[in-house]
Parts: sequence; structure tokens; C-alpha cells
Amino acid sequence: MFSYATSGILDTVTVTVTVVTIFQTVGETIVATRFEPLIATTIKPSLKREPRCDEAVSRRSRVPESGHSMSQVKNPGTSNHFDVVIVGSGFSGLLCTAYLTQAGIDKVRVFEMTPSVGGVWSNGGVGAYPGAACDVPAYTYLPFLDRTGFIPSKKYVSQPEISGYAELLVDHTGIRDKIRFSRKVVDLTYLGEQEKVWQVTTQNTHSGEPAEIVTCQHVVTANGPLSSPRLPEIPGMALFKGESFHTAQWDQSASLKGKRVGVVGTGASAAQVITAIVDEVQTLTVFQRTPTWCLPRDDEPTPPELAEKFRAGGYGESLRYVDWKGELPPAEVAFSFDDLHDEQKNAAICAQITARLNKEVQDPEIAKRLTPDYPFFCKRALFIDDYYTTFNKPHVTLVDDDGGVVAVNENGLQIARGETYDLDVIIYATGFDSNFIPFRIVGRDGATLADKFGANEANNFQMTTPHSLWGMHVDQMPNLYMMIGPQSLNPVTNVTLLCEQQSKYIAELVTKMQAAGHTQVEPTIDAVNAWTQLCNSTSKGKVWLRCNNWYMKTTKTDTNAGREASAGMWMASYADYLQHVLGERGGSQDQLLQFS
Ligand SMILES: Cc1cc2nc3c(=O)[nH]c(=O)nc-3n(C[C@H](O)[C@H](O)[C@H](O)COP(=O)(O)OP(=O)(O)OC[C@H]3O[C@@H](n4cnc5c(N)ncnc54)[C@H](O)[C@@H]3O)c2cc1C
Repeated sequence: MFSYATSGILDTVTVTVTVVTIFQTVGETIVATRFEPLIATTIKPSLKREPRCDEAVSRRSRVPESGHSMSQVKNPGTSNHFDVVIVGSGFSGLLCTAYLTQAGIDKVRVFEMTPSVGGVWSNGGVGAYPGAACDVPAYTYLPFLDRTGFIPSKKYVSQPEISGYAELLVDHTGIRDKIRFSRKVVDLTYLGEQEKVWQVTTQNTHSGEPAEIVTCQHVVTANGPLSSPRLPEIPGMALFKGESFHTAQWDQSASLKGKRVGVVGTGASAAQVITAIVDEVQTLTVFQRTPTWCLPRDDEPTPPELAEKFRAGGYGESLRYVDWKGELPPAEVAFSFDDLHDEQKNAAICAQITARLNKEVQDPEIAKRLTPDYPFFCKRALFIDDYYTTFNKPHVTLVDDDGGVVAVNENGLQIARGETYDLDVIIYATGFDSNFIPFRIVGRDGATLADKFGANEANNFQMTTPHSLWGMHVDQMPNLYMMIGPQSLNPVTNVTLLCEQQSKYIAELVTKMQAAGHTQVEPTIDAVNAWTQLCNSTSKGKVWLRCNNWYMKTTKTDTNAGREASAGMWMASYADYLQHVLGERGGSQDQLLQFS
């Protein structure tokens, strides 16, 4: 028996016993729920992609360089100056706003480029495709359940429910008036030692015209690790006569009924789409380059006894509690973060999933082609019911070619070994550009975040060499805080837990600075170097070194682009991370940060 808990990983940590209720069952075996999926594929973008920081720079010709000559720009103390500006209103931005407000810091402005809150889960957001659902149980994923009194309808809630919940959270915390919608931040510039403020330049996403320019003392980048869909660059894509779109840019007007549909990719979004649309389409052809380990969710409506526990209060918080101090006795969990990286234990998990797969998939040849040859969770795993059994349906074809799709023609797709497939609709389930720098950030002495993090046009503005303290503070960027940035989370962390801890941290830091009369905070270069070195060492012995994956920057695309492996992720446990940030392992705030 093994298990794997959602609310944090069990390294030096234990999770409260109540978390056991969220474990999954595979056959006779209890296994993990899954957490965070910083999805990426190895296919390059082309169609509707987000502008990059180079483009943001060129757009600056349409907005003032320094802002001093513009009538919109006001000095601190005016209505255009804020204590804190937050970029984005996903769970990171919302929780940060809520905690700041709760701490009495009221002059907060949130800029959100879309018309609604919820980030990836918002209606029309990148996670709004058929079948989209969180694959961490809602009971642990959704923050503030005790405060809002909301009881999730089922264990794994789908996108509309998460989006609705984000709206409820905003109303419940009373922060809606702080948010400016349809405002895209295109530039963050630190105005220098005299002014000691950041200038935030925005654009109206409806008109594309320059919009507010404001200043602030603190700035939080909560723009999300996965807001930039990655479309492949396959020759001939524009020739296709039917409909084609990325899962993250789902064409809500498209009808799949009775159509010959092809899905390119077999990652998490693909699996959700495949199982959601399979009974609607005439034929479904799934183009697989690499098979994926898949565990069932055993989804179910929230049982009455669980609803009762929520109603009693405090239950939501107990599920989200991670005992990073290690004060509690070990919880009833048998599969820890360490177990995942233990070769024998990992092999046992693979054997159990394979046995289930072989039982569920009728054609042994298809079962074989669906079986990965790398350890469990070396690449992101799927958590979905009915994925394997979908391939028993007579109108579903698995096209397996590790060379992938190499060409698109007016009628369909061609794979590497030469076969062509005629289709009416092509769905690209090709993931996201993660840790992408979508706008220009200029700190002290003209230093840019892109330069500091090794992002440039040649590598498609990926942060290839991040240098930070705890993935939040960056030297030469005073009072700038990154949320869910690089160097802060491993591939199995429930992201909203980190959103909440980082939000609390920022609110406490800003409060502490106000109380002490400090105006600026910046990490020491030694602290940044030490954290970067530590991050790079955390991959040692981890399962993520045992296959090519985007986490370690070892995909074909990464290798072709000459990216160095193992830059950018915190690969130790979430509890370890908290021990550094909250428990002062590695140094106290006063040692690692410079206040002035
Ligand atoms: C399809 C999908 C499924 C996922 N499933 C899970 C899961 O099961 N479990 C899990 O833990 N995590 C999951 N994630 C990861 C997810 O990113 C996090 O759980 C969480 O939603 C991150 O919240 P966030 O606020 O940091 O980012 P986001 O939700 O991405 O929000 C960022 C916000 O910033 C806005 N923004 C971006 N750039 C700008 C700009 N320049 N100006 C103004 N606004 C801007 C965006 O519009 C967006 O609203 C999933 C992600 C995706 C894409």
C-alpha cells in the first residue's frame, strides 16, 4: 500500500491524518492524488501566442519611456500611487490581495488582462476546454473553503465550478473594487533611488491602446506559470481546411459532433479533452509521441458525511495544513515524497499501474503502446478516470510515433513514419510555455529580469537561468515579489498551497516594513547565489533525472536549443521550501534580505 498526499509532500513533513481521505484507489492500492502540473511540451509555438517581452519593449514606443511627461503619472501620495500593485487575478493574485487587505494594507491595485478572475480557470481562460478539471481534490485545492462556507459538489470539480468559486472568493473577501479588468501590464520599471517606486504601465486589452500608468511601492508578479499556450510549429499548419485550435484557446463555437477529430498530444489537457469528447465525435485519432502514466481519480459527489465536516468548520484548513515544522506524529501515509524517488518503490507503482492498464485495455498491442518506459512521475502523470478504457472504443485510434506529427496538409496530419490521417478538426493539446517572461521588468540600474534570468529571443524568453531568493526576491529588483515563480516549487506541489503561503509571506513582510519604517527590501547577492546553488542541487537523486522532461529542461526542444539541464526548479519537498522561507533554515530574513 502506498499513498501520496496532496497538501504537501511527506519528506520531513507529515500531513494531518484527515488528508488521508483524499487518497486515490488503484485496484487494491491506495495511491496519490496529484498536484501541480507545470505542463509543457516540446513543440514550439506559432499561432495565437502571447506577446513576449521583446514585443512589450517595442510597444513602449507607444507609451511614455519614463512616465514623467505623462499626465497619468502622479507622484506617490496621489490617487495613482499604490502601496502594492499585483499583476494577475488568479488564485495567487486573489490570495495576495486578500491577505494584504486583511493586514490593513488597503491601497492595493490588481491589474488583470482578462475580463474575469480565476486565472487559468476563468471562463475563456486557458483551462476552459471540455473536461477541464483540477486534478487535485477540490477539498484541498480550493483555498478559503472554511471562510466562504462553500462545499465543492464533488471530489474533482470542473473548470466552471472553480471559476465560480474564484468569483465567490472575491466577493467574500471584498476585494473586487481593487481589480482593474482588461488591463494588461506591459512594463514594470523601477524609477530609481530618488523616487524608490515602481512604475506600472498597462494596456487596454480591448482596444490595444495604452491605459493607466501608476506607481507603487511594492509590486507582485502573479501572472501565472502557465498562461502562454504553446502551439507547435508544424509545416503546413495554415493549409488545413478544417478547424484547428489549441486546448487553451478552445473555439467555443466549434461543433465536434459527427466529426473526424484528431488530438495531438497525450498530456493532461489531452487526456481530459479525449475522455470528454469521445462520445460526441465520429472518430477520434490520438497522436501520441510518448505514453503517460495514468491513475484513476475515482471521482464522486461530495459524500454527505464530508459535507457535514465542512459545515462544522475548520475542516478545509486542516486539509490544507502542512506540518512543515514536523511537530505532529507521522500521518497515515505510506507513500512519501521520498518514496517517489526511490527506484524500487517507484517501480512497484509502475508495475501496479501497468497491471491495471493491461486489465483495462482489451487489445494487448494497444496496451503495450500505452505503457511508458520511464519511471512514474518522471514526466507529469495523468489523474483521470476512463483514460485507458477510451482506447477500447471502436472509433478511437491510437497513433503512436515518437517522431510525432511532422506535417499538416489541407486534409489532415502526417506523422514521422510517413502515414497521413484525414481529419475535420485538429486539437493541439501541446501544453504551455512555462516560466515565460511575458512583459518587460526593469530594476535598479537598468537591469532587466529577462537578462538576469537568461531569457532571450533565441530561447523563446524562457527563464533558463533564474537567480532568486526563494523564487520570490530578486537582487536589483527592490520590493518586487514573484509568485509561483521559478525556484519555488517542485512538480508535485499543490499550487494553491504555495499561492497562499507566499501571499501570507508578502503581506507580513510589507506590514513589518511599514511598522519598522523601511521603504525597501532586496535580497543580498550572497543569499541569491546560495538559493540558486541549493535549487540546482535539489534534483540530485530525484526521479526527474531519470527521463527527459521539461522540469529538468531535457526535452528534445531544450536540447536542440542548447538549454542546460536542471535550472529553475526547486526539486526538494514543499515542506523543505517552507522550512527555508518560514523556518529560517539557511538564514533569517534579516541575514538574507537588506532593508533600507
Ligand atoms: C489546464 C491547467 C490545469 C491545471 N491543473 C492544476 C491542478 O490540478 N493542480 C494544481 O495545483 N495546479 C494546476 N494548474 C496550475 C495552475 O497554474 C495553478 O494551480 C494556479 O491556478 C496558478 O494560479 P496563479 O494565480 O499563479 O496563475 P494563473 O491562474 O495563471 O493566473 C494568472 C493571471 O494573471 C493574468 N495575467 C498574466 N499576464 C498578465 C499581464 N501581463 N497583465 C495582467 N494580467 C496578466 C492572467 O490573465 C491570469 O488571470 C493547472 C494549470 C492549467 C493551465
